[in-house]
Amino acid sequence: MRCRASRWSSSPSGSCTKKPALGRCAPSSSRCSSICATPCPSIRRVDRSRSRSARPASRGKKSQSSPPSPARTRDPRRRRKIRRSRTRPRIPARRAASVSAPRRAVPSVHALSREELAELGQELGMKPFQLRQLTQWVFEKGLLDVEGASNLSKALRARLAERIHFSSHKVLQRAPSSDGSTKLLLSLEDEERIEMVLIPEGERCTLCISSQVGCPVACVFCASGLFGVRRNLAAHEMVEQFARAREELGKERPLTNLVVMGLGEPMLNLESLLSALARISDPEALAFSPRRITVSTAGYPHRIRAFAERGRGYELAVSLHAADPSLRKQLVPTAKHEPQELVQAAQYYHRVTGREPTFEYVLLAEKNDGELQARELVTLLGKVQCKVNLIPWNPVPELVGELQSPSEERVHRFEDFLRHGGLKVTTRRHRGRDKDAACGQLRLAAE
Ligand code: SF4
Repeated sequence: MRCRASRWSSSPSGSCTKKPALGRCAPSSSRCSSICATPCPSIRRVDRSRSRSARPASRGKKSQSSPPSPARTRDPRRRRKIRRSRTRPRIPARRAASVSAPRRAVPSVHALSREELAELGQELGMKPFQLRQLTQWVFEKGLLDVEGASNLSKALRARLAERIHFSSHKVLQRAPSSDGSTKLLLSLEDEERIEMVLIPEGERCTLCISSQVGCPVACVFCASGLFGVRRNLAAHEMVEQFARAREELGKERPLTNLVVMGLGEPMLNLESLLSALARISDPEALAFSPRRITVSTAGYPHRIRAFAERGRGYELAVSLHAADPSLRKQLVPTAKHEPQELVQAAQYYHRVTGREPTFEYVLLAEKNDGELQARELVTLLGKVQCKVNLIPWNPVPELVGELQSPSEERVHRFEDFLRHGGLKVTTRRHRGRDKDAACGQLRLAAE
């Protein structure tokens, strides 16, 4: 038998003969470290090849992800924080985008396939009915604490806890807002921090999750991009955010929508994103409808095309913010593609999946909320089957000064202009304005 990950010979029992100290391999799997108690060193080789594919998209972002000028903020504490962050050693954005999640000797149960879980069950001497119960807890209920598996014996729970862990994060902070939304600050195994937000609205309850630690795109109006990106999230770290949200809501309040719009650019972490969403939408696992999942991206046309071909018909939102290429370049300094290219990629997505794309447009006073910009948007999208979602800017204290939220009147005027131009428009109401509401602000405050 051969281990597919390393191509090393192994004995029929599955024990690695090249490095016996590594223990048992999973000959049928290319991810043997998820079973072995000690991670296989060959995995590093697999990771390097994966990370190479992530590099080109993040090239040239080092200088653009630097923190803002302290002069932009009036709060002396925040000024000191931004100054300190400049002297702190940081992973350059170009490299960091390719850094994978750390591998632990004890893997996450949410990273295992059914077959891998069954192998583990066999190793632990579990009976078929116990394995069925465990599979149900993991795949259908998204269990985050082995002690919650009440129908498994205490001894078995202890043995499972030695071999796998059920949650790779801790909730550091819950920030409820007066409008009902709640932001959670999570600490990951390597002490990195991410955010997720629960947004109840009438019958709906939307969860917004992160896909990276930080963000390399560095939009000028966003707190998430202030310190660049540190690493990609692993698929199980995204699945666990979903499971955490369900646990927070309890049985009375079902989750109705999932948006990948928090920290990070999902298209730069496409492999993990696809496997996380596949698990979340698997009818035999967490069974969340793909139609209720929206992925938001700031660009990357070739990745949007790959997402169309490999996804399960999820909803797509493209952050446009300006129809004029030079204005968009000012607002999204790392953007390499013209708005027209993004529109073509979104149209391709529509053709392949049948899902009508949404274009998101953050409105900034006196920057992109005038009649000229509205007219340019109508010209760009007038003949495209799509929706436009206007988002009046949610102020980030570090950035207030150069940027301002538009007045209600200007928002209405912009919206009316688009409607008269034949576009389908919605305007997002501000949510959680009173609690570090903008994306990435809670994490920024905790840095
Ligand atoms: S708005 Fe989105 S893409 Fe832009 S910096 Fe923030 S998280 Fe990244």
